[in-house]
This record gives sequence, structure tokens and C-alpha cells, in this order.
Amino acid sequence: MIKKIGIIGAGQMGNGIAHVAALSGFEVVMSDLDLDLAKAGIKVIAGNLDRQIAKGKITEAIRDETIDRITPTADFADFSDCDLVIEAATEDEELKKTIFRELGKHLKDDAMIASNTSSISITRLAASSDRPDKFMGMHFMNPVPIMKLVELIPGITTSKECFEVLQDLAEKLGKISAVSEDFPGFIANRVLMPMINEAIYVLYEGVGTMQAIDKTMKLGANHPMGPLTLADFIGLDTCLAIMQVLYEGLADSKYRPCPLLVKYVEAGWFGRKTGRGFYDYSGEGEPTPTR
Ligand code: NAD
Repeated sequence: MIKKIGIIGAGQMGNGIAHVAALSGFEVVMSDLDLDLAKAGIKVIAGNLDRQIAKGKITEAIRDETIDRITPTADFADFSDCDLVIEAATEDEELKKTIFRELGKHLKDDAMIASNTSSISITRLAASSDRPDKFMGMHFMNPVPIMKLVELIPGITTSKECFEVLQDLAEKLGKISAVSEDFPGFIANRVLMPMINEAIYVLYEGVGTMQAIDKTMKLGANHPMGPLTLADFIGLDTCLAIMQVLYEGLADSKYRPCPLLVKYVEAGWFGRKTGRGFYDYSGEGEPTPTR
């Protein structure tokens, strides 16, 4: 039974997963590269819980209990009594494999590992850990406290028991799960990311302005936000990493990342999280287009 959950990465996904897990009553240990980054993740959670208070969804007492259940750390040794560790570090295969090679040494023998990767092979990541049978993909959606879906991705080595425990966990976190086979991008990003990449090509080729592209998909296809706004929200570094996984993993030129996306990432313009992506978020009012 899962009681205590470790989380690696206190960025937008890691802190979102910690938020939902602690609010659902689980003890949480959240790590990042240093303690200050982990603490900054808790600050974001506190702000997001305040927003839930303002909407009348939770009380101040529940916010305080939720925050009290989360311990920040920069040391994997603090995962020693966790029943599960969910990895939500940067979308980079080598970085994740380095984490998994180290992580097992600090865990209980029966502890499970889940990766929140958006696209990378669960089977390959599992093989870098010391417990490929207790390893699965658990792909939360952004923002985690709001989005209902969790994609469950068993790798070829994932045991039936591990799958069932994590499927049950998704339900306990108030989520609805859909199962995907372990192929590049799984279901969500195999469909979503080529659409976003195509929207960037449409901008790159001058077919439409940023506003025209976002307006067209919002009002014309009933998407809650336009694809360029969504790309900024996801993080352009993450979007590019996912396109590269699709391109290399499926070996089909239709997945080639748009050169404009590459250039924005090279400039360090990662979207909302860096204050600038396709839109500039530095001003007070509405974000302004950068092209
Ligand atoms: P992010 O850049 O907001 O956060 C990543 C965090 O990982 C950073 O705080 C970074 O310091 C930390 N980190 C890097 N190496 C680490 C290490 N060795 N140990 C501990 N922490 C480390 O990125 P994100 O959007 O939160 O994405 C995290 C993961 O979630 C990626 O695999 C991404 O593909 C996936 N994901 C992202 C989205 C999205 O919409 N952004 C949605 C679903 C899944």
C-alpha cells in the first residue's frame, strides 16, 4: 500500500503532483537539485492552494495540513521510507537515466518508481533502474491540480501488480486514467505535439500571425487555448524534447521539429517559466507576441 510518495523535480509538474498527492492525504518528500529549488516548489504549491481557497474549494486549515505533509529535500537518502517515487525532472533521457541509476540504492526493496516523462521510452528508463518490474510511466497533465487525466504507460517489464497499484493510486489522487502502450509520445503527445509543431511551422512560413493562429484554433476548433499559448504553457524546451523523441523514435520526417522552435529554445526562450516564449510575459497586462 502506498502511504509515502517521493517526487523528483519541484518544477511545474513535480510541484503539481506533490500538491495533489499531499491534498489527497499522502506524505510527500519533494526533491530538486538544491534545497532552495525544492522550497521554491513548496512556495508555488502554497500560492496554488490559496487560489483554491479563494474559489471556495478548500479551507485554510486544509491548506496548512497539505503544506505540512510536504518535506523538501535535495538528498535521495530522504526517499528511504517512500513506497513510491515519481520522477518529474527535466525531459532529458540521459539525465533521467542518471537519476534512476542512483535512486534505487536509496529505496526500500519493494518501493516502486514512476516516471512522468512526456515521451521517452518507459522500457528504456526502467532498464536503467534496479527494479524494471516495479517501474511504470505515470503521465500527469499540466496543471496537475486541475487536469483530470493521467496516462498510465506500462513498459514491457512492468509487473501486473505494479500496474494495478499505480492505477489504484491514480484514482486515489482523484484522476481518471487512460492506458497507453509504450511508444514515443504515448497517446497524448503523439497527437498533441505534432499539432503544436505544425502551428509553429504555420508561424515560421508566415501563413498567419501569432494572434491569427491562436484565435483560429481557439474559436475555430474550440480549443481552450491556442497552440502557441499552449506551447508557452508547456515549456518550449519540453515541446522540443518531445518532438525530438517522436522524430528519432518513429524515424519519420513528418515529426521534424520546426526550426523556429529550435531557435527559441537556443535563445533560452522557454515560455511562461522563463518569462518569454512565443509571447512576452514580462509586462503587467496581456502577454505580447514576440513576432
Ligand atoms: P520544469 O522545467 O518546470 O521542472 C523540471 C525540474 O526538474 C526543475 O526544477 C529542475 O531543477 C529539476 N531537476 C533537474 N534535474 C534534477 C535532478 N537530477 N534531481 C532533481 N530535480 C532535478 O519541467 P516540467 O514541465 O515540470 O517537466 C518535468 C517532467 O514532466 C518532464 O519529463 C516533462 O516532459 C514532463 N511533463 C511536462 C508537462 C508540461 O506540460 N510541462 C506535462 C506532462 C509531463
